[in-house]
Formats: sequence, C-alpha cells, structure tokens
Amino acid sequence: MKESWAVASAESPQVARQVVTMPSKLCQSMLRRADELHNRGLKAFGVLTGHPSDHATPYSAVDAVFFDASNNRRNDPHYRSAFRAQGNYFREYEDAGFVADPRELLQVWRTVERAGQEVIAPFHIHRRQPANFSMIDYRLHNPAFAWHLIVSLSEPGRPVLQPFSVKKSDSEFGINADDDLEHSEQSYDGPEVRPMTLVVRGGESSIRQLIGTLSPPPESKLLLGA
Ligand SMILES: [Zn+2]
Repeated sequence: MKESWAVASAESPQVARQVVTMPSKLCQSMLRRADELHNRGLKAFGVLTGHPSDHATPYSAVDAVFFDASNNRRNDPHYRSAFRAQGNYFREYEDAGFVADPRELLQVWRTVERAGQEVIAPFHIHRRQPANFSMIDYRLHNPAFAWHLIVSLSEPGRPVLQPFSVKKSDSEFGINADDDLEHSEQSYDGPEVRPMTLVVRGGESSIRQLIGTLSPPPESKLLLGA
C-alpha cells in the first residue's frame, strides 16, 4: 500500500524543524481515547512507545499506553500540596496535573518491554490550556526523555497536537509544597524547550480524516509517499 504523510502539529515546520512521527491510525485512536476521558472529566496521560531497533527511535512512535486516568495520584495529600504551591490555577482546578501510580508505572514498563518495545516519550492532555509546554510541564518532565507530546482539548472537537523537544538536567526534576509559585500553567520559554513537528503516516484516507479534525488546520498539504 502506498504510504502518505502529513504534518499534524500546530507549529510551522519552518520553526519546528525537528520531526517526530507516528501512524495516523495511532494518532486518531489516541485522540478518541483522550476525548472520551476528557468528556468524563478526566485528564489523559501516558507514554508513547517505539521499536528499539528502529533507527528513528526515540522519534518514531508505534504505540501509546494510557495510564489509568481514574488512578491519577495528583490529589494524594503529598502531591496535592506540591501542586497547590504552583499557583492559583492549580488550587482552582484539581485536575490540572498528573502523577502516575508507581505500581502502574512499573507494570506499564514491563508490558512494553515484553512486547519488544521501549518507552520513548510521555504525552498528556491539556483540558483547558493551549498546547503549550508549561513551566510545570518542564519541571515534571522526566529528563531521561528527549521529547514530550502535548494535546490540547480546550476547543471541543478541535484538538491541537504539539510535540516539544526538552533538554534538561536531572537536578531540575520535581515540584515541592514550599515552592510558592504563580502561573506555572503558562509557557516555559527557556532555551531547553523547542517545538517539534509531528508527521503522521499511513493510508491517505485515514490521514485526510485525521487532519480534517485538527485545529488549527495544519499548514502543509498532504504529502504522498512512494
Ligand atoms: Zn501540561
């Protein structure tokens, strides 16, 4: 079958020069699942996986694993006070932020490895915010991963996808109850974070269907492959 490609992320590829890819069917199923959770008032978050032998790893996703959104540990007392210290937004919205359950995390890692894949990048949904990489996203990003996918569902039925490359050191990891910050939901503008371009690949009809739902409409046309 002939494979086609299209840009699915919001930022112009002229600005976001580094590329990550995923099958358009995977992208569609992720958006459907995220939307279902969003409609139930839940924040979706999880990890993308790739094939260790793929030369494009870690920049080529083949699958996604969602964490159990009803098991978000964000409001466990210890984490809750750390989130509350990040600003008014995090005191007002108790679904802003996520913390994976450590047991589930281990289970996910084992399942991915048993399938002969590896975890390549985290992703999470913004339920109200744009598809920015926020200050809290930067602080909570695991430095072991080179990139992070953000999906904004703030506009009903018009998802926005935006991957970011993130380069940070281990010492910058985590949030604390004594942080006393404001506006941590706003964009992190340091040089460590750069927008990337998400290219989806697959059958032409699946790609057309996907990019027809995205906001803003991707600037590039559908590219036909060989
Ligand atoms: Zn975020």
